[in-house]
Amino acid sequence: MNKKKIQLEYEKKIILINKYNKYYYDNSKPLVSDDEYDNLKKEILILEDKFKFLKSDLSPSNIIGFKPSKNFSKVQHKVPMLSLANAFTEDDLINFEKKINNFLSKSDDYKISYTAEPKIDGISASLIYKNGRLEKGLSRGDGKEGEDITNNLKTIDDIPHYIFKKDFPQEIDIRGEVFIKNSNFKNLKEKFANPRNAASGSLRQKNPEDTKRIPLNFIAYAFGYENGLKVTNQYDFLKKLNYWGFKTNSLNKLIIGAKNLIQNYNKIEKQRANLDFDIDGIVYKINEFSLQKRLGNVANAPRWAIAHKFSSTKAISEILDIDIQVGRTGALTPVAKIKPVNIGGVIVSNATLHNEDEIIRKDIRIGDTVTIERAGDVIPHILSADIKKRLKNSSRFIFPKNCPSCGSKTIKEFNKITKKIDAVRRCSSEGYYCDKISIEKLKHFVSKEAFNIDGFGKKIVEGFWKLKLIKFPQDIFKLDFRKIEKLDGWGKLSVENLKYSINQKKNISLERFIFALGIRHIGLENAKILSKHFISFVNFKNLSKTKNYKDLLNVDGIGETQINSIKIFFDNAINNKVLNELEKVLTIKNFIQKKNEGLLKDKSFLVTGKLNGISRAEVKSLIEENSGKTVSSVSNKLNFLIVGDKPTKRKIENAKELKINIIDQNEFLKMLNKTS
Ligand code: NAD
Repeated sequence: MNKKKIQLEYEKKIILINKYNKYYYDNSKPLVSDDEYDNLKKEILILEDKFKFLKSDLSPSNIIGFKPSKNFSKVQHKVPMLSLANAFTEDDLINFEKKINNFLSKSDDYKISYTAEPKIDGISASLIYKNGRLEKGLSRGDGKEGEDITNNLKTIDDIPHYIFKKDFPQEIDIRGEVFIKNSNFKNLKEKFANPRNAASGSLRQKNPEDTKRIPLNFIAYAFGYENGLKVTNQYDFLKKLNYWGFKTNSLNKLIIGAKNLIQNYNKIEKQRANLDFDIDGIVYKINEFSLQKRLGNVANAPRWAIAHKFSSTKAISEILDIDIQVGRTGALTPVAKIKPVNIGGVIVSNATLHNEDEIIRKDIRIGDTVTIERAGDVIPHILSADIKKRLKNSSRFIFPKNCPSCGSKTIKEFNKITKKIDAVRRCSSEGYYCDKISIEKLKHFVSKEAFNIDGFGKKIVEGFWKLKLIKFPQDIFKLDFRKIEKLDGWGKLSVENLKYSINQKKNISLERFIFALGIRHIGLENAKILSKHFISFVNFKNLSKTKNYKDLLNVDGIGETQINSIKIFFDNAINNKVLNELEKVLTIKNFIQKKNEGLLKDKSFLVTGKLNGISRAEVKSLIEENSGKTVSSVSNKLNFLIVGDKPTKRKIENAKELKINIIDQNEFLKMLNKTS
């Protein structure tokens, strides 16, 4: 890569990280997970380290937080409110200690004492006291200037307005964390992704009355400037804070040597899910103020402290229960209900255990202490159980032999291709007989790639199902809108919108229709192949009479597994009734063979990330209408990678390596002579 390209790449990343900062710090609504944010930050720091000519005032190595909001008056901090350097591994920590010993010119075996303070994930505030009276309260802002949020801070019970103790300094800037307890966050989880965002959103309300409505807490842990403080180390200072009337963290400790810090870290990580406040790591501070002074600061963090972060992709918690979910194809999926835990900014309370075999293999039990992983867009899952912490009276989890929804026998099928018994146990009932399967089938029917009925999401399916408004797909087209209009949360306008969306979708292609039926093993691709083969709905439906399944063996892409599935589908009387009823209310368009000379002829595409105002299904059909192809992974066969919002980084990196054209939505639409 030449210098110009590297510079451009770097600047793009700087712009992106500052956009993330704005959403996180200013709007309290992060755009990405902490993991994604931290990775981007790491990429920038690596670039800066590798190419010394890269510099920016807006680089994460220089900036802290985000500039103060216009909603508040700005106040200069007398002593900057800094961020903290991070340690993620034991090695990072050992290096931190080595660097300190070097800086202080001590030998490697010099034993440093640290305070180890659980790092509550909230937002920091500075409280300025003069002669024992709280004069001003500020947010951190960009570290140099904060927002004057005195009146908001004064609504927090933990913050004393007056302090009468004799040894309380004449003037002092007490710093600490404003946070919301997990038990209080429970009631707010619809509005905010995690307790930190809830605390930040509430504290920085324009109107202090709004702040008052959300129960906030404050713990103190540091000071900025002071006049008259008679303490020489951090641990004594923490004790003093308590004596003066501030809350401090009861898990704070004084610890000697990096090795013991790690022991304490492991212990606290295990306690994390049982605490009533969210912590994202442990802050270590050199205890002696005299040493802190000698060590000083780097650009945006003190040299004498470090935050030992918990992983942003893994966490430890406890299994409260194991729920068995029944999917559209009858698959029984065990889901662990866990004590809620924050993984990289997302509160996780459910984690999949995949299937029966996985539970047996890992011997996961109710009550177990487990490690959960949540990385990227993958559903959180249980990695392993800590056998040492297992309760004495715990017993193996017995997987139900009957479907928890309809009571039918559950079975494990023999896979003819792999010649193995399936890992997945299934409900043996046929489709609509089982309520859970039925609901999932309806969700699939209205989903994006199927009927794509605007405003008819999963929640609506569940709601209408409970009210017995729908049971079979045809019921969607015969809804009693007068009844719906009277329901909570519905009105004339929303009902009109729903009616309109449903009517719009009454005209559907054969391919989408077949996919919407949710026949096992018939995904989008197979539905297309089948529609090409049958051409019309009538031909497709006739299969139930002709039973000419063998013919399908000649269709490219359709194998025995799919044929067997189609046969099971047509052997079921309810399915045939559903087809007859749908035929009465829908116009199912015949398959039309496209001429292969469109604008995208011989070009292949893959989409990563979310596009604006256009669904994946629509892009796919646009590509195909124009004789292009879509592929499912980045390989030499790919010509264009279309990148949307929150793309998968790995795909972009692979595409770059293979020198594949990377385009955005607009560039794609331009290829079709369209604009977005
Ligand atoms: P930080 O939160 O990692 O560390 C500094 C803060 O720790 C201090 O400001 C203070 O508020 C807090 N703290 C808690 N207990 C403390 C104690 N005992 N002593 C001292 N400080 C204590 O630093 P940061 O720079 O504010 O934020 C970086 C973090 O925020 C990263 O984890 C990052 O992932 C996340 N972030 C995420 C996004 C996103 O879009 N998801 C955006 C920006 C930042």
